[in-house]
Amino acid sequence: MRGANRPRVLVAGMQYEVNSFTAGTGTLEIFRTRRLAEGEGVFATSHGDEISGARRVAERHGVDLVPVFITFGGAGPVLEDEAYHYMRDRILAGVRREAGRIDGIYLPLHGAMATKSISDAEGDLITRIRAVVGRDMPIVATFDMHANFTAEMERGLDGVVGFKTCPHVDYPETGEAGMEILVKAIRGEAKPILVHRKLRMMTSAEGHDTNTGPMTEIIALLKEAEKAPSVLAATVIAPQPWMDVPELGWSIILVVDGEAVRARGQAEADRIARHCWSMRERFRSHRIPLAEAIDIVVASAEAERPFVLSDASDAPSAGSFGDSTVVLKHLLARPPLPGPLLLTLTDPEATRTCQKAGVGARLSLTIGAAFQPQYYEPVTVEGRVLCLAEGPYPSELPPMHIDAGRRAVIEVAGYIQILLSEKPVITLDLKGYEASGMYPREAKTVIVKSAGQFRGFYTPFAFRIIELDTPGPVDSQLPRLPFRNITRPLWPFDPDLDEPWPGAD
Ligand SMILES: [Zn+2]
Repeated sequence: MRGANRPRVLVAGMQYEVNSFTAGTGTLEIFRTRRLAEGEGVFATSHGDEISGARRVAERHGVDLVPVFITFGGAGPVLEDEAYHYMRDRILAGVRREAGRIDGIYLPLHGAMATKSISDAEGDLITRIRAVVGRDMPIVATFDMHANFTAEMERGLDGVVGFKTCPHVDYPETGEAGMEILVKAIRGEAKPILVHRKLRMMTSAEGHDTNTGPMTEIIALLKEAEKAPSVLAATVIAPQPWMDVPELGWSIILVVDGEAVRARGQAEADRIARHCWSMRERFRSHRIPLAEAIDIVVASAEAERPFVLSDASDAPSAGSFGDSTVVLKHLLARPPLPGPLLLTLTDPEATRTCQKAGVGARLSLTIGAAFQPQYYEPVTVEGRVLCLAEGPYPSELPPMHIDAGRRAVIEVAGYIQILLSEKPVITLDLKGYEASGMYPREAKTVIVKSAGQFRGFYTPFAFRIIELDTPGPVDSQLPRLPFRNITRPLWPFDPDLDEPWPGAD
């Protein structure tokens, strides 16, 4: 710690989740429309996120935070190098400016950013920050559960804390835990050391729910490990599976206090990692073929509603564009279901046509596949405009304002209500529908384009949730996707793999 002054901690981060299988490349515009803030703007745009938790801890311990930079870009395609270079350079400029006047660095990251030429943007950033401040400056990062933790990140960091909830609701708690480690390190009350076990294992996102299923057991093991005074944090990283990068795979990361307990910490991380490996079959996705799912809906009694069908392979929250017509085409080819049935479809041109035509207008439209013709086909419908909307709306998850551009609701086939939008609508909570005059609780069937995080919002009122086996860049059958860069062997791509890491018993 520098002299007798109040400790100062620099705060800088960038948050993005790449989907390697979606169309196009991403630019800085993705961040500018969601979150890109510098200096005091970092705090001004912080609402219920990791930084808000870090601020609480800093205040409690008399630590001054130095906000430098933050972005949030949601999920989307591989970035142009220039987008990352801009973020990196703004952060490094802040680090250089403050280097002699700070006692630690807090990095609120997502951990899944890749550009055309850099597969691990956060690892690159951490290495460059470390080169400026030297080995002795404590640096702690927080990560999304769906990051991919790499050897380069490990080399540069003293502490790591990840989310313990999915759907993610512990943003502030994660920031608090990260800042607590940093404060202890600055005061000399702890000497944080990372121990990491990388597993040769990947799982589809449906199994990551921490309220039901196998992930609940893993979170319980982490919390148990954290009861030991020598363990400052225990984290599971279960990467979102649509990033085609080297070193892809699960991680168990412990932050332990001091060299003396490093070996014990590694043994504990390995024990938890082996348990994850032993559970891998339980994480397999069980998506149901579309025709079979619709038969289930049709066969149920009138009172047994609403059905919620997740078309996760086209989930905008995981980087797809929400332009799939697969479900719509299937519905149009069969007798009508009980209505209303709600679904979302990104189509800028069709949205603008409806906006021009006005509420009540009847029109013929060719819709869908506007962004991802490699996965989907457009379909022509006769529709009636029910509602028009525009402007950002507040969402619960992610906790921010969502800008889906202009929107229009059309009814086709007498019961299908399609929310058309200029930009992808994230439907983890109900807000995307509600902001456009659609009410999932009152519908008979709701299509939700999400791979699991929607469950917290839809489970309370759904009669039944069915996950559809549909095509798209967020496919859960990972070997069906065109991976090229992952490090093999990796389960389930190599289904006979019998060792979770080289040299494991
Ligand atoms: Zn996540």
